[in-house]
Amino acid sequence: MKAISLLGSTGSIGTQTLEIVDEFPSQFKVVALTAGKNLPLLVKQIQKHNPEIVALADESLLPELEERLNNLDIEQRPKILPQLTGGSDGLNTVASWKSADLVVTGIVGCAGLLPTLAAIRSGKDLALANKETLIAAGPVVLPELKISGSRLLPADSEHSAIFQCLQGTPWAENARLSTGVPTPGLRRIQLTASGGAFRDWSTEELKKATIKDAISHPNWSMGRKITVDSATLMNKGLEVIEAHYLFGLDYDHIEIVIHPQSIIHSMVELADSSVLAQLGWPDMKLPILYCMSWPNRLETPWRRLNLTEVKQLTFSSPDIAKYPCMELAYSAGQSGGTMPAVLNAANEEAVAQFLNEKIHFLDIPKMIEIACERHKKDLNSNPILDDIISVDKWARTIVCEQIYKGTC
Ligand code: NAD
Ligand code: MG
Repeated sequence: MKAISLLGSTGSIGTQTLEIVDEFPSQFKVVALTAGKNLPLLVKQIQKHNPEIVALADESLLPELEERLNNLDIEQRPKILPQLTGGSDGLNTVASWKSADLVVTGIVGCAGLLPTLAAIRSGKDLALANKETLIAAGPVVLPELKISGSRLLPADSEHSAIFQCLQGTPWAENARLSTGVPTPGLRRIQLTASGGAFRDWSTEELKKATIKDAISHPNWSMGRKITVDSATLMNKGLEVIEAHYLFGLDYDHIEIVIHPQSIIHSMVELADSSVLAQLGWPDMKLPILYCMSWPNRLETPWRRLNLTEVKQLTFSSPDIAKYPCMELAYSAGQSGGTMPAVLNAANEEAVAQFLNEKIHFLDIPKMIEIACERHKKDLNSNPILDDIISVDKWARTIVCEQIYKGTC
């Protein structure tokens, strides 16, 4: 029985993780949860899973959560009420909860950074969905993993595909979880991308893109932020940086391929020129389950892939002019140090402002470019945690300043 601490339980990754726990009650149990603001759903999760501790990101909502739990009919109330906590300390406590064997990080954005570090420092293994944390703070997170011996298991479908393909390469065995070190025998990674909501739109048509258009993903059902990132292809750019930190390849050997069917979740080319791919229907439950069951595989009743149903698997190169975010991400990754943190924070802020109707979809890359350009003179190649936190704040301010000035 593996005990799970789940960060971001009310989100898309969080609810899918709980579905897996429901499906495999003899394999997994939930001991700790964190959530943002969705109290009705959180209460249902507490009733069903009886966690030992629950943390709310926003401490001020704790009395309301307590009241909701106390107001439940006696027979619907959990047998033992969980310990309730909140704020940054509360999230860190849940992330390092003593009885947890694995921490699933389903918080969105750099807000996941401190809890992720708390989990690593307490030596827990992590199922990493919260990619922004690794992208912003790779130079801080990787050395911490070495010190504590925590292992980062990739839950992002592309990185899970790569990780799965590498399981059978004996010379990669020892290095497979030594994050950041070049994986022996791995020559090239090809990350597949669905192309997002606007894959069939022309550059001209993008001028008319609305929020509703941007949050309608053709293949995956996900949170709003990552769905917009998929529409700008920043998600794939972020995943290039994520792959660099996870598997240690330089950026010239990490490529993006548009694959509209989202059946091949990524490919690796090995030293002998063999190419391995992992295939499946687009469903995040599979990569999450693999993190939870690794190194084993569990029997599932899930829909099995039938390629005669899919009929065609197609591939093309991404359109750099239509998706400037991709190049911005490669360039930030190549600069290294604090630059990916600036890219990530500017993107988070720009996407939030887009979803708030303050800027247009096409303004997102412009905002990010301004922040990255301005940061060049202050680039810190060897940042510590405080440097990451400080550039993260700075980049958000730069985006807000542009909006205030009406630059975009
Ligand atoms: P989501 O918006 O659906 O859920 C986010 C969760 O984080 C919610 O529980 C929310 O309450 C919590 N949260 C939000 N802001 C917070 C804050 N400031 N502090 C603490 N908690 C906060 O997002 P999601 O789609 O589940 O994505 C979560 C992470 O997983 C992201 O980093 C995303 O890039 C990654 N990811 C998601 C998918 C997917 O299919 N959804 C796929 C791959 C990777
Ligand atoms: Mg992905």
